Amino acid sequence: MRKFEDTYQHKGLRKQLVSLLKEKGITDETILEAINTIPRHFFLDSAFDKIAYEDRAFPIGEGQTISQPYTVAYQTQLLNVKKNDKVLEIGTGSVYQASVLAEIGAWVYTIERQKKLYDAHKQFIFRNKYPNIKFFYGDGYEGLPSFAPFDKIIITAAAPFIPPKLITQLKIGGVMVIPVNEGEIQRMLRITKLPNDTLQEESFDAFSFVPMLTGKNG
Ligand code: SAH
Repeated sequence: MRKFEDTYQHKGLRKQLVSLLKEKGITDETILEAINTIPRHFFLDSAFDKIAYEDRAFPIGEGQTISQPYTVAYQTQLLNVKKNDKVLEIGTGSVYQASVLAEIGAWVYTIERQKKLYDAHKQFIFRNKYPNIKFFYGDGYEGLPSFAPFDKIIITAAAPFIPPKLITQLKIGGVMVIPVNEGEIQRMLRITKLPNDTLQEESFDAFSFVPMLTGKNG
């Protein structure tokens, strides 16, 4: 059994990471506080213990990655998450992004298409700390119609297009943050559903995510 320890060294590295995120333009104190609180090294294999607080993506198995902390903070900031928001996340992966949302006080519904990664949540170390995360095995393109509508939707994989079913599951006034392909890279888009049911689209920086694939695996 792995022993999980959050040492002074880990805490110090986390503070440095938070300073770096501030320098890079993250201003939302609630997000910075969540990142300062959550031991990212617990979400990674112990081999990454010493480098877990570098602002980098790392492999988490099944060819997938935990997102870079800057990307997590950036997407969360664009999403403008408030306590008690009902948030749908596509791409559970390591559960790190979901934990940041849960730490802020959102009700998180997260979908993963890789069976092995989905199954790993049963050993998720913060299951008791974050009862506000609900895990689903499925295809994110379908969303979760039985739990819709959502205040916010966050896609943490590179989408070839904006999935129409997810737009349907967004509340009026709701916000979706999604990286959409432009060749090899993706453009971060923020979609807001306006009162007359039309969509407002805003375009932000370029990022590089693993692809959002169709169907389930496993
Ligand atoms: N939010 C994650 C990032 C994981 S990377 C974290 O914080 O670690 C993206 C994840 O999206 C991968 O685990 C991948 O398997 C998953 N994914 C890709 N396409 C998907 C789809 N259609 N539905 C659900 N999950 C998907």
